[in-house]
Amino acid sequence: MLAMKFGGTSVGGANRIAEVVKIIQAEKERTPKIIAVVSAMSGVTNNLLAAANLAAQGKQAEYEKICQDLLRKHRIAILELIKDAIRCEELLKEIELMIEQNCSRLCYGIQILGEASPRALDAIGSLGERLSARLVAAALNEAGTKASFVEATELIVTDDNFGDAAPQMSETEARTQAKLLPMLENGVVPIITGFIGATRSGVTTTLGRGGSDYSVGIIGACLKVDEVWIWTDVDGVMSADPSIVPDAHTLAEMTYSEAAELSYYGAKVLYPKTILPVIKDEIPLLIKNSFFPERVGTRIAAKTSTTDSDVKAISSIKNISLITISGRGMMGVPGIAAKTFTAVASQNVNILMISQSSSENNICFVINTSEVERTCMVLRRALEVEFHHKHVEDIQVQNDIAIIAVVGERMKGTPGIAARIFGAVGQSGANVIAIAQGSSEINISFVIGQNDIPKVVKAVHDEFKLGQSNRLK
Ligand code: ADP
Ligand code: ASP
Ligand code: MG
Repeated sequence: MLAMKFGGTSVGGANRIAEVVKIIQAEKERTPKIIAVVSAMSGVTNNLLAAANLAAQGKQAEYEKICQDLLRKHRIAILELIKDAIRCEELLKEIELMIEQNCSRLCYGIQILGEASPRALDAIGSLGERLSARLVAAALNEAGTKASFVEATELIVTDDNFGDAAPQMSETEARTQAKLLPMLENGVVPIITGFIGATRSGVTTTLGRGGSDYSVGIIGACLKVDEVWIWTDVDGVMSADPSIVPDAHTLAEMTYSEAAELSYYGAKVLYPKTILPVIKDEIPLLIKNSFFPERVGTRIAAKTSTTDSDVKAISSIKNISLITISGRGMMGVPGIAAKTFTAVASQNVNILMISQSSSENNICFVINTSEVERTCMVLRRALEVEFHHKHVEDIQVQNDIAIIAVVGERMKGTPGIAARIFGAVGQSGANVIAIAQGSSEINISFVIGQNDIPKVVKAVHDEFKLGQSNRLK
């Protein structure tokens, strides 16, 4: 059994959907039981969320235009894909109604309230996948392959953390098996909406931006599929973001840990949580290019077989801030770190990196810039006594920074890697603001100024000769 996921560009228009149909049909010859998870057509989720925000500002003409463009985009694709007049007409009516109800009317509701709540944003943001899944299923049926769209709200049960909901795996597993296994037995390909789920009481949630990868991981794990294939617009996971390093090469293999580290630190090609559900049963993940299906792609599994290089890939993450808590009196005073991180955790703020100077004069950590304000507020409250005793003297915030993560399982125990990394960074002229190495030694990460990302990534990539041109020599 195979679970596939097609990203936004892979279903971005009629010609792309036609290619998806071909890919599914070809694989179905080899593996009769296939499920497919689809993202919204590229750009659609952004537009839907923009419409909701415009509605909150009362900009009716602007959000209505987005709803109309959305209808036009899907209508064009349907007219091109579905030649059967009755089926075409039915689908057109259906999507028109859906856009009217879930974009225009919901936006109007937001306009009246003057506020777009996380719950409302999820209701609107989920529409793109609900439309694209219908299109892909119809295109498959048109091409003679039995397929049915399935709303993931019927499968994935989540908590009510709108915008970043967490799946409840045991209930999800029961529902997924009950719904999908009979379809697979009957030779039907389920086409499932990525990105979304629902609370136990049936309210639509989303799993986080880019979360369709996570959806296929969750559903694949529930069905214990043999492999999960993620189809995207690049050849696989590359040694660096190809928009920063055009010479980056595609990795043939990676371990789960390497992929997890790399995606956690910004490699957009894989949503970071995707690994979580598949790792338990060691289901291999393949990343493949839907524009060039014959290319092998990247295989992510528990172990890799090739003789890997020590450093495999470099990623970067921006729009983050460094918070530094400092005070000469911090030395030897127990509990400051505990209080700091308990306070941050109480706000559900995700800490991306922590570093403490050996003199114990400061603790610094990195979080998303959008969470700085409330984090500093709780910190001031939590450390009131320490401020009073002058153990802690200052909480500083540095914005416009980036974390660079250098990842590779074989960096473990190889001496001299850090020296080479920081040598290369120094040569590039960038200043290193803070450093952290996970105890697993599979990742060395450090903080630099956001503007230095391109030159630092290129410098480290060059130092370890990760470029395609180098490898061909
Ligand atoms: P999809 O819509 O298929 O989910 P995404 O846009 O989410 O695709 O992810 C694919 C993109 O990730 C690529 O087009 C590329 O620009 C970007 N990317 C960033 N880092 C990497 C990397 N290390 N390897 C491959 N792609 C990367
Ligand atoms: N459509 C969603 C987004 O743009 C989910 C995804 O593409 O993975 O975030
Ligand atoms: Mg993606």
